[in-house]
Order: sequence, then C-alpha cells, then structure tokens
Amino acid sequence: MRPVNRGEEVLLLLKGADGFISGEKIASVLNISRTAVWKQISRLRKEGFQIEAHPRMGYSLVLSPDRLLPSEIRDGIKTSLIGSEIFYYEKIESTNAIAKNLAMNGAKEGTLVIAEEQTRGRGRLDRDWLSPANSNILMSLIFRPNLQAAKAFSMIMLTSVAIVKAIQVTTSLVAQIKWPNDIYLYNKKLGGILTEFNAEQDRVNFVVIGVGLNVNFDPCLYPEIKDTATSLKKVMGKEVKRAVLLRSILEEIERGYSDFSKGRISQIRSEWDHYSLVTGKHIRIHSLDNVEEGIAESIDDDGCLILRDINGNTKRILSGDVSLRVSE
Ligand code: ATP
Repeated sequence: MRPVNRGEEVLLLLKGADGFISGEKIASVLNISRTAVWKQISRLRKEGFQIEAHPRMGYSLVLSPDRLLPSEIRDGIKTSLIGSEIFYYEKIESTNAIAKNLAMNGAKEGTLVIAEEQTRGRGRLDRDWLSPANSNILMSLIFRPNLQAAKAFSMIMLTSVAIVKAIQVTTSLVAQIKWPNDIYLYNKKLGGILTEFNAEQDRVNFVVIGVGLNVNFDPCLYPEIKDTATSLKKVMGKEVKRAVLLRSILEEIERGYSDFSKGRISQIRSEWDHYSLVTGKHIRIHSLDNVEEGIAESIDDDGCLILRDINGNTKRILSGDVSLRVSE
C-alpha cells in the first residue's frame, strides 16, 4: 500500500535509509522544499518518532513510538481493501461507535478505526471491555457486503479465524475460538469480537466488526478479569509488536473476506472448526430465562451453533443474547 501523506513519505525514506539521509535528498526525491522537509520531521517528532539531526549528514530515524499510527500500520502491509482508510485516535468513546458513525456518513468498505484507549469500550450485551492505553489492539472495520441481515453474524466467523491465524503467524501460539465471539488462549480470554450492522429491507447496508485483543497488558490491572483474562505478553513473557500483529490480522481478514464474498463459506467453516474450543464438548447455553445442554456439533454457514441434546436431536442456536459455558 502506498503512503498517503507527506509525513508518511518522509518516514518511508528515513526507514529505507542506511543510517543518515540528507534533507536535500529527501527534498529532491519528494520534490518539496527543505523547509517542507523540516516541517514533516517536526511533525513526526511530535508523533513520538525519535529522529536525530546532523548538520552535514541529515536525518536518521532512531526509534519509532509504540503507537498504532497509520504510518506504522501501512508500513509494508499487503492489503488493498482492508485498512485502505485509517482513522486513528489516542482516546475515544469506542471504535465501534465511531465506525458506525463513519459508515452512516458513507465511509467506504475496508475503513479501519483504531484507538489507543476507549472511554466506553463495550462487549456484547453492553458489558464493559477493559483495556489500558497504548497496550492492546482496539479496532473496528467497516464492511459493505451484499448480504441478508440474518447472515451478518457469519462475519464473526471469518474475523475470528483471521485473528487466530494471524496470532499463529506472528507468535506461533495457537489460540482458540469460543463460540460465538471470543478468542481464548490456554482457557483464558484473549480477545472479543463485537459485530453490529445496519440493514434495510433485510439487506445489509454495512457491518461494523469491532475487535479487542489483549496484546501487551497485564490483566492483573483489573481485579474483575484478572483470573479469566490473559494477554500475549503474559503468555510469552515479552512484548509483541502490535503493528506487526495488526498488519497480519488485516491481511488475514482481507483473505477471509475475499473467500466469504466468493461464497467459499465451507472453507472458513472448516478452519473455524479446526480452531474451535467448543466443538465436540459438552456445553451449556444460558439465555435470559433458559439453560440448554448438549454437545456442540459445529456451526452452520450463518454462524449458528448446532447443539445435539441427550435425545440426539439437533438445534440451531443463534448467537444473539446467549452465553456459552463448557461443562467440566
Ligand atoms: P460470555 O460469552 O463468556 O458470557 P461474552 O463473550 O458475552 O461472555 P463479551 O460481552 O464479549 O463477553 O465481553 C465482555 C466481558 O468480557 C466483560 O463482562 C468482562 O467479563 C470480560 N472482559 C472485559 N475486558 C476484557 C479483556 N480486556 N480481556 C478479557 N476479558 C475481558
């Protein structure tokens, strides 16, 4: 993907330089004045890039900030649709709220919203999603699939498969998917996915998929989740480069979405089964006024869970407002 502004173009030249690159060289490659180069360098420094300046040798990039800045995300990314527009925020209410707003106002498919911190991060059923600033991945993507509203939840399937594949590619860890919307690692919650959509006459206008993924934070920061949550850093004992993982997630989502759009759902479904934490297990499904028990057989193309009860009868469970517990 090409850089989209002058700051990113300057950054790319700094990153490609073996040590120092002169202001004159940057100015001539980008066809801008030396003053314009200096302005971009100051801007990058304000964003947290450490850039050394030397009167004769020019500029050298010493350190990039640990921020999911658009320039860091785009650096070497192999997607054409997903992340083609990026909206980055230090602190916002929630990435899904912003993404829905952008989608309502015509934002194009593939638009990515990233936040370092959310003041009102949400899971399903209006539950809190907790994350300290600058530590994890908090993002939302806008899709405009040609889809019936009833099938919008099937997009959780492709997103969860993409996330576990990206985690495996970047860290070699094999995470699992807990139906309907959670990512687990060694039986603790590593991430959650929140799908929201807008439809008219049963056709989807847009789908917003939000992801909260625990990368570098210590779950002990929050007493309410310290025993049930985990993070990649906690398991690996070292920090994970968030931008590298995020790029991989976006690339896997683009691949999955392309399969999905071509109707290759069975492939996504078999990958889902491969990573599923619940398939073949005895489970309980809790809804507001009911509990159902049985063996989780699989999921169908719409993202519904197929539950086989003790009498051998199967039933489709909609992901809507239910919680799943794996029996001991
Ligand atoms: P379940 O299906 O297990 O009933 P859920 O999938 O509906 O749960 P979500 O709504 O997706 O849960 O996520 C919100 C819940 O996740 C919160 O109530 C809290 O318990 C837990 N949680 C919040 N922040 C985090 C986090 N960063 N990591 C892990 N778990 C978290």
